[in-house]
Amino acid sequence: MTLSIRHDVPLAPHTTLELGGPARYFLEAPDEETLTAGIRWAREHDAPVHLLGGGSNLVVGDAGVDGLVIKLTAAGIRWEPGNGGNTTVIADAGHAWDDLVAAATAAGLAGLECLSGIPGTVGAAPIQNVGAYGQEAADTILSLRVLDLATLEPKNLPATGCAFGYRDSLFRREPGRFAVLAVTLGLQAGGAPTLLYPELISEVDGGTVGLQEAREAVLAMRRRKSMLLDPQDENRRSVGSFFTNPIVTREAAERLAARIDANAGHTEVSLPRYSVEGGRVKLSAAWLIERAGFARGLRRGRVGISTRHTLALVNLGGATAAELLALAAEVRGGVLERFGVSLRMEPVCLGCTPPW
Ligand SMILES: Cc1cc2nc3c(=O)[nH]c(=O)nc-3n(C[C@H](O)[C@H](O)[C@H](O)COP(=O)(O)OP(=O)(O)OC[C@H]3O[C@@H](n4cnc5c(N)ncnc54)[C@H](O)[C@@H]3O)c2cc1C
Repeated sequence: MTLSIRHDVPLAPHTTLELGGPARYFLEAPDEETLTAGIRWAREHDAPVHLLGGGSNLVVGDAGVDGLVIKLTAAGIRWEPGNGGNTTVIADAGHAWDDLVAAATAAGLAGLECLSGIPGTVGAAPIQNVGAYGQEAADTILSLRVLDLATLEPKNLPATGCAFGYRDSLFRREPGRFAVLAVTLGLQAGGAPTLLYPELISEVDGGTVGLQEAREAVLAMRRRKSMLLDPQDENRRSVGSFFTNPIVTREAAERLAARIDANAGHTEVSLPRYSVEGGRVKLSAAWLIERAGFARGLRRGRVGISTRHTLALVNLGGATAAELLALAAEVRGGVLERFGVSLRMEPVCLGCTPPW
């Protein structure tokens, strides 16, 4: 087959941060055959392969990417009614995640409604196990069809083999091992929306709502926080949250809370803590960043912190990846110095290394 491999293709327009340099080689793969042929071509040309979806969780380095960037664009969803009120949906990797969520919600299938409005593709959703407002992709993923990039053989991986965790998975830990080709999800026909997250409950006034109303409520909250892709939004050039919420041992959380209380005035709010699996405790990265002195709307030249979300670092226009990563380092360093907590970067760096 003839592959239309392009040279020196700017990657910034393929990312939501809109920064970074070009890909030395670039290929759009609308099907498995093109993807496999592209990988073979890359091997023959000694070029490392990098996979790209919607570019909404990527920081591309200013010098660009020395290799073949393959954008997976195969789209489509297939429904398979099952037993006991379950419906199975199989979605191709290049399908827009939110189009899948919208279709499932409109069809009265529960399980994805809280994940409304997350940018990017279906194939990338398992990579960091996308999550929001009390749901994560791993709650409904049954299995994945993947291409083993070493053998070029497709295979099925059950969800139990994907090591899903908080913004984590096997794919995040072993990048370059698999390309996700399609995702199979199990959804509940006629199921009720997941209303666990306090902010979402208050958004629907504590009422009993349907799936569509829950989706609308999530979209409204996200819009207020600039967490939807909106070309009119001044905070639009971001990757959403730049840092994950730190998960620490219970002892470490208690020690930190005691230290903060001891140093705080009577008006200071205590360290927010949420129990998670394994007896560990999740801290709020936004709280730590704000208390370390980094406010929403802070600017450093052409980069800054979103005016509506402390965790979102934004390209204010014309910024470089180096400028963005310098701000990230400043914020991370400030939190480490003030609280002794190391923040983990959520997006993936392509052609760059974080300066810490
Ligand atoms: C405004 C905004 C809000 C956001 N809100 C959330 C949120 O609420 N929750 C959340 O979890 N995330 C959120 N994100 C982050 C992002 O949308 C998700 O991580 C999304 O899943 C990334 O999809 P993508 O297609 O853009 O992936 P890309 O950015 O293109 O790629 C991300 C990583 O996945 C790899 N990858 C992509 N496709 C495949 C594939 N088919 N097979 C193997 N590897 C692949 C890439 O190589 C890369 O390492 C937000 C981002 C933005 C810009």
